This record gives sequence, structure tokens and C-alpha cells, in this order.
Amino acid sequence: MFGTLKMHLGRFRHGVHPPEHKALTSHLPVRRLPFPDEIVLPVRQHAGKPARPIVKPGDRVERGDMVAAADGWVSVPIHASAAGTVTDVGLWPHQDGSYETAVRIAVDPNSAQAPRARLIPAWEGLAPKAIVEAVRHGGVVGLGGAAFPTHVKLSPPEDKPLDAIVINGCECEPYLTTDHRMMVDYPDRVHHGIRIMMRVLGVDRVLVGIEKNKPDAIERMRETAPKDLDVEILPLRVRYPQGAEKMLVEAVLAREVPSGGLPMDVGVIVQNVGSVASIAEIFETGLPLIERVVTVTGRGVKKPANLIVPVGTKIRDLLEACGGLTDDAREVVSGGPMMGAAIANFDAPVMKGTTGIVVLRDVDCEERTQMPCIRCGHCLDACPVFLNPQVLGKFAMNSRYDEMADDHHVWDCMLCGCCSYVCPSHIPLSQLFAASRTALRKSKATA
Ligand code: SF4
Ligand code: SF4
Repeated sequence: MFGTLKMHLGRFRHGVHPPEHKALTSHLPVRRLPFPDEIVLPVRQHAGKPARPIVKPGDRVERGDMVAAADGWVSVPIHASAAGTVTDVGLWPHQDGSYETAVRIAVDPNSAQAPRARLIPAWEGLAPKAIVEAVRHGGVVGLGGAAFPTHVKLSPPEDKPLDAIVINGCECEPYLTTDHRMMVDYPDRVHHGIRIMMRVLGVDRVLVGIEKNKPDAIERMRETAPKDLDVEILPLRVRYPQGAEKMLVEAVLAREVPSGGLPMDVGVIVQNVGSVASIAEIFETGLPLIERVVTVTGRGVKKPANLIVPVGTKIRDLLEACGGLTDDAREVVSGGPMMGAAIANFDAPVMKGTTGIVVLRDVDCEERTQMPCIRCGHCLDACPVFLNPQVLGKFAMNSRYDEMADDHHVWDCMLCGCCSYVCPSHIPLSQLFAASRTALRKSKATA
């Protein structure tokens, strides 16, 4: 249908290989962080429509209780990640610098934090639709950063037949080791999630792509792979941004996702290893998605770590649990340094899509003076989706946004930052493209 499944390139074209910096945390097993004094749960922490709060100040909530309901199909509910009392439903600092409606919970210091007794659904006896519904009620989203609702991904339209599931174990962003440790410390849970996904989607072939800089993860995933399923663990060349869905599909299946299309257009669903483990957790514990693994790292934090934290833990509390900042700490970034964003307010909480917190020092954030383009072509050689960043950059600097969209495919840009990374003139190309897209959205909204 879509060509042979044996076609495995182990690589995609272009991209870059920035310094990895993963040794700071790649050897550290995941450990659990004690419950903080307060949890803050923004209603906007997934792709799609924000959730609707269903609690009010004074309400008592137990761990796992729903505090905000999904608002439509492309939306997910949000659940209390600790037992306590709701103190406020109002505006609170968000990681993106804005203020967003959030449910604040004063954590009960005397609670054992045991969840209510729940019926744990046995997925083996459920129809695929009922499994998807359980995942939806569990508020599961992609944990690789984009936080796209998982139940939507598990419900492809009938006219998009699938013949493969690709599991994303690349974690190509420098510094981050969340997925790496998930595969080393919880490989059985990942495989359990894969089994559930295969049943839901009716697909009998799975390829797990893992970059070769995680040999222990490759080994653990191979050792624990179930013998009765067709699950292949594929070591991949280390290259950024291989964790982007389109790049990964090219690397493991040699299929090109069309411009403006999705992996399902070429018969594939891609799911991150952490998200797959979250699917399994729903059916292992009965608990919704209320905690996640976060890497807190960088040479600007005293004790880097891989932590399991309740969603809603403030960044401030996370940094404190890791010994605090060093004297030369300069910038705190949510996500990796290539695609992450600086955090202005440490009261902003960890969200379902928060993969890591990276603290950079003065020396890591060297000021670079922007120079004129010398037309060297390095940005063209780096762009993984074959755009022309040099031309796009020229148009962006002249506010020629419509031409960027109509003639130069700016909407295909993944904002991966490869072009900015290689540019010898230090032109902040990907930031220019992000700003251009914001301008295009605004002009469309007012048209
Ligand atoms: S890498 Fe920078 S200097 Fe070179 S062509 Fe691209 S924009 Fe110009
Ligand atoms: S940021 Fe956009 S233009 Fe630049 S390399 Fe990535 S995809 Fe290409």
C-alpha cells in the first residue's frame, strides 16, 4: 500500500548535530519529587481548546479528581495531581509569558496522597472505541512537547488506512533525557502501551526509533520487547530534529509526509515513548495523567536530575529541589535549547507537555552580533524540510509576509532552529519566521 516496511534509512536529510550535553543527567535514574505546598493547573496546557474549570474555591479534591472538563473533541480534562483544597480559580503566570486561568490547590500536608479507590478498566476486554474513551477521560496528551490530545491521534479517519506505528524515542534536543530514562527505567510500561495502541489501531507492525547515543535504552527496549508482537527497535544516526514526526517517518520508513500533511497521509501514526507509557498507566493504575518525568539540567543548576513530578509543580519548586541556581545562571528554558522558550516567571507551573527545564549560564548565552547575509547557503543545507531560509529571512525583515506564505511555504517551517544555528551571520532566522507567522495569523483574523 505505502511501499515496503523493510525500507529503513536510519536517517533523514539535512538537519544539524549540536553538542549533546546529555551526560549531565543521562545516567541518573528517575526519582520521585515530594509533593509541593501548592499545585497550579492551567486550563490551557494542551493543543486544542482549553479545558473548563468545574471546581470552585473551598472545594476538597483528591488525587486524580477532575478539576477542569474537556471542551470539545480536541481538548482534554485536567485532574488534581495532589489532594488538597482549591484556593482559587483565576489568572496565573503561564510558561509562555502570559496569564492564564488556572486552578490553584493548597496541598494537604496530612494527606497520604492515596488516590480514591477506582475501577481500573481491563483493556483486553474493551472494544477499541472504549479504550480510546478511557484514554480521553484520562486526559492523556503527547508528552514530547506539543501536548496534542492522544485520543484524537488514536481515532484516525476511515479513509486513512494505517500499516505502521512509529514510536519516537529519539529525544534529539540537547540536554533532555526524559524519554531516555523512561526507556531505561520503565521499558515494560512502554511496551504495554505499544500493545494497547496496536489493538486500538488494528496495526500489527511497530518501529521504535532510538538515536544511537542511548545504547542502554536500545538494549533495555530490545531485552523487554514482547516475543509475540512485531516490534522492531531501530538505532538511528544522531541528528537534530529527528524527533520531529516528519523526519522520523523519513528515517525509519523512507516515506515523505506531504507538505501540509500528517504522518497518517502515508499510513503511519507517530507517538512519543512517554505518551505511550501514559496510555499504559491509565490501565495499570486507573489514574489519569497527573504526573510526568521532567529533566532539570544545565550547568546553571546545582544538582541536575530526572524527576517524576506532579503536573502543576511550580518551576521555582523544581529548581529548589535541584539545589537552586548557580551564581552564573543566566537563563531558564522550558524544553531544549533549540526549540524551547525562556521562562520569565518561575511561578509558572510544569504542564503535561513540559519535557525539561534547562538552566544556561552566562557563558552558554554568548551575545552574538547580527551581520548581513553573506549568501553562504549553509541554512539551505541545514533545513530538513527543504525551505530557503535565506530568502524567507530577507522577506521577513521586509515584512513581506504574504509572499513568505504564498511562494515560500513558511507554514511548512517547523521552527526547528537549524537555520539559525548554522548561520555565520547570526541572523535569528527561526525567530523571524515565528514572528512572521504571528503577523500572518493576525492579518487573517482582522481581514
Ligand atoms: S546561513 Fe545566514 S548568511 Fe548564510 S545564506 Fe543563510 S541567512 Fe545568509
Ligand atoms: S526553522 Fe524552518 S526554515 Fe529554519 S531550518 Fe527549521 S524548518 Fe527550515
